[in-house]
Amino acid sequence: MMATTDIEVPVLIVGGGGCGLTASILLSDLGIESLLLERHPDTSHLPKAHYLNQRTMEIFRAHGLADEVYEKGSPLKNMATVSWMTSLGGTGPLDRKLIHQMDAFGGGALEPIYMRDSPSRSGNLPQMLLEPLLRDHAEARPQGSLRFGHELTALIDAGDAATATVVDRASGESYAVRTKYVIGADGGRTLGQELGVVMEGPTNMVDMVAVHITADLSDVIDDDSPLVRFYLNPDAGDWRRSGAIVPAGPIYWDRRSEDWVVYFGLAPDDDARTDEEAMAPHIRNLLKLPELELSVHRVSHWLIERVVADRYRVGRVLLAGDAVHRHPPNTGLGLNTAIQDAHNLAWKLAAVLRGEASEDLLESYETERRPVGLRNAGWAFMAFQNHAVIDAAIGLMPEAPLEVNRQTFMAMFEDSFEGATRRQRVVEAIGTQRVEFQAHDIELGFSYEEGALVPDGTAKRVETPMGCEYHPTTRPGHRMPHAWLERNGERLSTLDLITPGRFLFLTGPGGEAWENAAAAVTEALDVPVTAVRIGGQDGAVDLEGRWSEVRDIADDGAVLVRPDGHVAWRSLGGHSTPADELCSAITRVLRAPIA
Ligand SMILES: Cc1cc2nc3c(=O)[nH]c(=O)nc-3n(C[C@H](O)[C@H](O)[C@H](O)COP(=O)(O)OP(=O)(O)OC[C@H]3O[C@@H](n4cnc5c(N)ncnc54)[C@H](O)[C@@H]3O)c2cc1C
Repeated sequence: MMATTDIEVPVLIVGGGGCGLTASILLSDLGIESLLLERHPDTSHLPKAHYLNQRTMEIFRAHGLADEVYEKGSPLKNMATVSWMTSLGGTGPLDRKLIHQMDAFGGGALEPIYMRDSPSRSGNLPQMLLEPLLRDHAEARPQGSLRFGHELTALIDAGDAATATVVDRASGESYAVRTKYVIGADGGRTLGQELGVVMEGPTNMVDMVAVHITADLSDVIDDDSPLVRFYLNPDAGDWRRSGAIVPAGPIYWDRRSEDWVVYFGLAPDDDARTDEEAMAPHIRNLLKLPELELSVHRVSHWLIERVVADRYRVGRVLLAGDAVHRHPPNTGLGLNTAIQDAHNLAWKLAAVLRGEASEDLLESYETERRPVGLRNAGWAFMAFQNHAVIDAAIGLMPEAPLEVNRQTFMAMFEDSFEGATRRQRVVEAIGTQRVEFQAHDIELGFSYEEGALVPDGTAKRVETPMGCEYHPTTRPGHRMPHAWLERNGERLSTLDLITPGRFLFLTGPGGEAWENAAAAVTEALDVPVTAVRIGGQDGAVDLEGRWSEVRDIADDGAVLVRPDGHVAWRSLGGHSTPADELCSAITRVLRAPIA
């Protein structure tokens, strides 16, 4: 049945997960109309991803979402560590023993470092709670229209526009949507396959089982700081000897949490994966809480793969999120990278649709984001594999008889020289898992080597191998560093100087010539640029002197920052023809002919 009322909209978003919903919000804030289609009647009922890294929280801060995410999600003190224990219950010699605990997610001893580098701490809110929040915000913005229960079933790209066939799943009615651009945020379920996009990399490696339960663990938990608790328990037998639990709120995030998610890894051909009845006994067995009352809400299966699309753009379709990269949950990069894809794309689409940039700007989306997708997929897979290093350091052998593995555990806790050596070995091995839980540089330090930017010929800093040490820089392609400023009595971050859709032009105390140039160029090119001087008599105050430490430029230098917070261009010092320099930089970035 074809309805008579067909629709025309500048941007069609396919998929109402974290990526699509964020895209809707960002486009609305840029004044761009969009229509979002989600084939399910509602947002996800599965907890799925929960960790929101600082870069994501910075994006949420810029769009008025962060406070609510913090308010609904975990306080930092309840996500400050991860721990490895033998079990949660039991009275045997091996039970309830802490193997090791490490600071994580910007908590504990990491807090001063993480908070020096960003105005936003990391957050934690499972997708089943985050998505309704994003949906409410998206629906509250008049430019964004959302249709849940509507599925894209076909797409024709005619060159100058694309036409989608959409089915309203409740009524069975179908209609057409004509659009200039499609954001394919469909998790890889529809568009990529139809367009011949190839997902490259290994797939179906492990079945990650996530069991969403309600259980009262308040009597058995005595430390509220871990967000993830790993249990390694030889008595639980084969695959069940290890697993992890994560609080799922919805109100408390400490021992009082009502809901929990329990994770196990299974071989994709293991019959146990389909045996939902067996899940509750497995959980009791793993935690060593045989009497635990628990109700299982949902068992979800997630086949671990490490795949990245060979293309992020096909004609008018720009693919984002899980549609172009899928990998293990370790380091929590799936949802975060999806949200950050949408952030990279939104300002570019807006600049093109507003006529400020040529359509070529959209080419830079794949140029910039695909290397990040490849890096993050590889990193997550490596962090996933690293858990085997911990098992090996304990001495656990998957095929060994139970008694051998039990003896190995006993030896680790022995009050002897060998016991101390074994414990130290485990602590050192678990320390390498900082690639997952302290990946500060992976989260904030990613950069674009080419794309919508003007390289300045400086060499890329060698990244620290474990991905933990972030070094702020204004080198083009990097995220502009954070520093606290004061302006008109208000304390604000350098990142707060960015207004959605506008370039930011930062100069130093001697930046007067650049400021004059910025005013002239903005008018000539009709591109929105906000110029801010930091330091000097009239400039914003560099409150802690941090900007001077990280800005890399001299007092008479300048930095041009894109609307997504990445540096587009910089001049390390002054210039004899500043207007020409700036004009050529903006033109190169937006790839528009000089007016
Ligand atoms: C079971 C499961 C558990 C997970 N657990 C974790 C975890 O613990 N930690 C972690 O970091 N990551 C986890 N992930 C991954 C994480 O959820 C994803 O990285 C994240 O959801 C990506 O967001 P997205 O918006 O790109 O895609 P999705 O969240 O997959 O959203 C895509 C949406 O598009 C819709 N859609 C598809 N085709 C159409 C169509 N034709 N028309 C309309 N709508 C369509 C789908 O219904 C879906 O809602 C999990 C994923 C799954 C599947």
